[in-house]
Amino acid sequence: MTAVAPPSLSLPRPRAVVDAHTHVFPAEVVAGRAAFCDRDAWFGRLYSNPVAALIGAAELTQSMAVAGIGQAVVCGFPWADLGLCRAHNDEMAAAVRGSGGRLSWLGVVPPGSGVAAAQEADRCFRLGAVGLGELNADAQVFGLDHPTAVAPVVEVCLAVDRPLLLHASEPVGHAYPGKGTATPDRLLRFLAAFPALRVVLAHWGGGLPFYELMPEVATVAANTVYDTAASTYLYRFAIYRAVLDVIGADRVLFGSDFPVLRQDRFLRRSLASGVRAGETDAVFGANARRVYGLPEPGGGTP
Ligand SMILES: [Zn+2]
Repeated sequence: MTAVAPPSLSLPRPRAVVDAHTHVFPAEVVAGRAAFCDRDAWFGRLYSNPVAALIGAAELTQSMAVAGIGQAVVCGFPWADLGLCRAHNDEMAAAVRGSGGRLSWLGVVPPGSGVAAAQEADRCFRLGAVGLGELNADAQVFGLDHPTAVAPVVEVCLAVDRPLLLHASEPVGHAYPGKGTATPDRLLRFLAAFPALRVVLAHWGGGLPFYELMPEVATVAANTVYDTAASTYLYRFAIYRAVLDVIGADRVLFGSDFPVLRQDRFLRRSLASGVRAGETDAVFGANARRVYGLPEPGGGTP
């Protein structure tokens, strides 16, 4: 009798998986959720429900070990207040320093705060941030349509050649806490205003990849890549094949939005979604390492 390999063993495995979109919080926020719901309206909208998971870096690295994920990019939260952003940035920098090379982090600033936000962005890069994000136009009340107020922060990213991760919203479909109004039409105006900026659009860009079938849209989005965060709540897994066929395998970054989604299950289902063997390394690791400038797997980091 021939033994049949379990399905998981027949799936393509990337050399080293990167989860390009996760969220961790300082212990003070995890323990004091109610107080922070009062201090930030968007945080209250997402986390007043006690079931909405809030975790620290230790839970993330434990989950990565279970899921077989070698590296992760950590986002904080898009606080509207610069002081809350600054405290969160300090926590992420410290957590990443203690992670043995497994974690990298994105600095968070309220980009509409002009020069003060730009100074904090600069401080983040000096502390080792690999980009900025996940910035959120609704939570932090900045304009995507007339983004001149954001220009000082964008200038900092351009000066150090680091990307900016933006939350994105679907203009159609079901409502959910945190969906927002960063829809493809508005995101495209933002991209057009800063053509040299490297942008990562979260959550499949709210569907913007589909409009890249229009040549003029593809031209404006040439410096943009997309992550797959929270995919399970938004799309059927057929979205992997559909988007890869439109924009190619070098512009999609696997990201879970952990702890919104479980990393192990989401990775397994994503690997089984129709991504081809020749695309797997790119989508599940190499693209994130290129975009965020992460170390290569086995590059000497423990
Ligand atoms: Zn998001």
